[in-house]
Amino acid sequence: MTTRSETKTTLAQLLTEIEDRNPAQPEFLQAVHEVLETLAPVIAARPEYAEPGLIERLCEPERQVMFRVPWQDDRGRVHVNRGFRVEFNSALGPYKGGLRFHPSVNLGVIKFLGFEQIFKNALTGLGIGGGKGGSDFQPHGRSDAEVMRFCQSFMTELYRHIGEHTDVPAGDIGVGGREIGYLFGQYRRITNRWESVLTGKGQGWGGSLIRPEATGYGNVLFAAAMLRQRGEDLEGRTAVVSGSGNVAIYTIEKLAALGANAVTCSDSSGYVVDEKGIDLDLLKQIKEVERGRVDTYAERRGASARFVPGGRVWEVPADIALPSATQNELNSDDAATLIGNGVKVVSEGANMPTTPDAVDLFQQAGIAFGPGKAANAGGVAVSALEMAQNHARTSWTADRVEEELTHIMNDIHTTCHETAERYGAPGDYVTGANIAGFERVADAMLAQGVI
Ligand code: NDP
Repeated sequence: MTTRSETKTTLAQLLTEIEDRNPAQPEFLQAVHEVLETLAPVIAARPEYAEPGLIERLCEPERQVMFRVPWQDDRGRVHVNRGFRVEFNSALGPYKGGLRFHPSVNLGVIKFLGFEQIFKNALTGLGIGGGKGGSDFQPHGRSDAEVMRFCQSFMTELYRHIGEHTDVPAGDIGVGGREIGYLFGQYRRITNRWESVLTGKGQGWGGSLIRPEATGYGNVLFAAAMLRQRGEDLEGRTAVVSGSGNVAIYTIEKLAALGANAVTCSDSSGYVVDEKGIDLDLLKQIKEVERGRVDTYAERRGASARFVPGGRVWEVPADIALPSATQNELNSDDAATLIGNGVKVVSEGANMPTTPDAVDLFQQAGIAFGPGKAANAGGVAVSALEMAQNHARTSWTADRVEEELTHIMNDIHTTCHETAERYGAPGDYVTGANIAGFERVADAMLAQGVI
């Protein structure tokens, strides 16, 4: 039997090989590092996982597609963006994971997101593999017609690689209902097929009720479960939320529904703090209807709110912190500030928003820390429920979807909590999520042979 320290050495060697093979992909390497460094106990306990090649295969995408996306703006000028789809692992089901449109997108970012997605999707228990895609296109400031032409060009290549039983993308940063609509329309036109090839569709044409809300609602449910585990609840708590997109908005909504009060939101220009609590109707009007910026919120809200240009929400005292914007948005200085201000729970709505040293600080301080691959899995879970509804040509009520979501989030919490205890790391949801997700994927990969 391999000892834990021998296993650690093997994993460290593997990590070096993966670093050498994937230079200039810091986000991908950060995500791989975070998973591998927690796997030693499970590999030591279950020697079959040490089978040569299992971890190497898990860290190498099954397929990576990169393509040119040419499109014309409203003045007739041609722009060329780059499109990506990384089909990372399909041992558990068709590849599933969002599309991100943001200027910071590159292959390493998409690989980090796809790698995380493998374990997240495994944790839902719903039979979906991991993938991710996107483009370095910036939708902000573009007209609807420009966004439509971009999406049509993007899908004109992507359609060859996806399908309801192959790969089913969804939204992510910069890809919401509008973009999914244009992408779906082009897929249907090219293939002459109406199939569940994208999730996050409009509610009149195949979209699931509660899909827009699912990631934010799910993260609050996960935070509530962590508090419950400690004999506490959300009632009367103050929360800081970053971002003001899909995940942030529905995080704020669910907090209010469960008796807590979110006092911040942000975008890449800075943040708003509102002593009375964020007015959700006003925020939705500005972000979802007008596609505006958060400083407009402060202008219209009156005396209770102020806009802090370039600032970070983490300086506002709170019991709960819910990072919901982007990767590496909460560093060790921010963590020290939050801990100093008495934060009790940190739960990741975004993917990998907390830097590794900040995670260490939270865990050393005994703060309940919910990693994104568990805490924000509600979005992909309801996407899988959307696929199930499409296949059955039916649509479920909002109550039914929300009940399923609640059940799934509580199950994920229990799985992570119990797995962490079983492997000698009680209360460590990072280890629990990584090992539980890994076991499900690794078992399927071993059963399916060396492919
Ligand atoms: P949106 O595009 O709807 O919103 C993103 C928000 O984050 C905006 O407020 C945006 O501000 C801000 N943001 C994005 N990039 C940066 C940056 N580099 N610096 C500062 N602020 C930034 O995306 P979502 O709400 O869908 O996604 C947010 C996070 O949640 C992402 O990490 C995503 O991967 C994750 N996630 C999303 C899921 C979903 O169902 N949508 C599912 C699971 C995870 P600005 O407008 O100024 O760019």
